[in-house]
Amino acid sequence: MFDFIKSIFGCSKGIKVTDGNNVEANARRPAVSGQIKYLLNDPATPQLTDTVPMPVPPNPHPPFTVEGFNGKSGKFGTKGWQAAQVYTVLCKTMSTILPMMPHTMNRWPGTNNLRIKPHAGVDLNAYYDRRSLQFFYAQDPVTRKPIYTCESFDIVSHELGHGILDILRPDLWSMQSMEAWAYHEAFGDMVAILGCMHSDKMLRSVLQETNNDITKQNHLTRLAEEMGTTIYHYTKGRDGRTPGALRKAVNSFKYKQPSKLPSVTRHDQLANESHSFGRVFLGAFYDFMTRVYQKQMTKGMQPLDALRYTRDYCGKLIMKTSKLAPASPRFYAAAAKTMSSIERQMGGEHQEALRHVMHHRKILHRKGFAMALSNKKLSDIDLTDADEVESTDQGTLVKRSRSKIIRLCDHFDARAQGDNPLYEVEIEVPNDIYMEFNNRGMMVDGLIPSEKEALDDARNCVHILHSGQMVADGPVEDGVFDKPFSILEGKLVRNFFI
Ligand SMILES: [Zn+2]
Repeated sequence: MFDFIKSIFGCSKGIKVTDGNNVEANARRPAVSGQIKYLLNDPATPQLTDTVPMPVPPNPHPPFTVEGFNGKSGKFGTKGWQAAQVYTVLCKTMSTILPMMPHTMNRWPGTNNLRIKPHAGVDLNAYYDRRSLQFFYAQDPVTRKPIYTCESFDIVSHELGHGILDILRPDLWSMQSMEAWAYHEAFGDMVAILGCMHSDKMLRSVLQETNNDITKQNHLTRLAEEMGTTIYHYTKGRDGRTPGALRKAVNSFKYKQPSKLPSVTRHDQLANESHSFGRVFLGAFYDFMTRVYQKQMTKGMQPLDALRYTRDYCGKLIMKTSKLAPASPRFYAAAAKTMSSIERQMGGEHQEALRHVMHHRKILHRKGFAMALSNKKLSDIDLTDADEVESTDQGTLVKRSRSKIIRLCDHFDARAQGDNPLYEVEIEVPNDIYMEFNNRGMMVDGLIPSEKEALDDARNCVHILHSGQMVADGPVEDGVFDKPFSILEGKLVRNFFI
């Protein structure tokens, strides 16, 4: 039981249980036929199903193969159907998310073909490890019902979200930055929400449930309902959990520097653990969505159309933001500023709403932390092929990625290091520059990395990893996910996101 609870806090002791299905995934996907009745949200909301022709993924898409999927649905509730459910969720989420992307997405950073394992073994978890998405199963201690993470739209699309962000931002994979870790989790949850919004049936049910007021908690904002209830049954609510969701997008968490937060605390309070801390950005993003929706309603749009508009507008904005946000120890603020710049370039209709939610969540401060606005002009900058440049008639955004690998022992004395061997290991720290120029080519905003902040942030990361025993000395075995990082050839490298 303890292991299950630890799993949720990002430091799992995964159990490897082979289930006799170790056949190497077929690189070619079977031809699809027939229809599927699939869960639109989560096994805890069984009324939310739809029956559709077996989908195909968008063209192009990063290739994947679902183990146990033979192209047909199989009988609802069977193992074959579970594989078809995962396949359907991947198709529906990719068809919703990939058109929002700033560029074509047709390959993964770590494999030619992502292996999807719907029945990876016994645990209450799921993960993405650059080679595969793996979904585990467990038993609810109260209902005695088996819980299959592969059946939940939220969980499957959250894990896919890690993979999508990894395509957009492979530089974040091994970066030692607490806010970048948490952003990965928030991104997974944002993809889960946007992915679930693919279905009009789902949108109608949300409107009905909230009486058109989507600021209220609803099927979209309660993430991984069944898993949340099972964990509640294990914890009996002693840690401030309530049944019915693993995390909620309608929340009131406000930004605090993660180094000032505890690593573990009650579920109803904020910790710097990445899933817990991810709720701040997730909450801000959802707040923004509600304001975009409300504005469309005041302009006379029908609720269903307003929700569809909100999905497409906010989805496009967050995908572009995730691509361009500079890797910074203050990643939340960097992402919020980037989001604001991009929103201005998209026309700026929701600029005030965005600024409001980011200030309200304390992700952005009124004073901000822009670099001194010099007289710098776009024409002064030597742009290289490595720079990412986004130009519209509103202005130009430039991100200059400057990967930096350091050893903390070169920056902190022996006393600061204690007995932590990770000070001796090479680690990646954030170091990007970001600049925004107006349409006359004058710099109007920007971010430069602070070396001190980056070092302090990395130091916090390695303290957490060391004290939580979260680093393996070498490569980890497939299907074992107790150590999220490994030391490989003297360098700290990530193994997976759960
Ligand atoms: Zn995750």
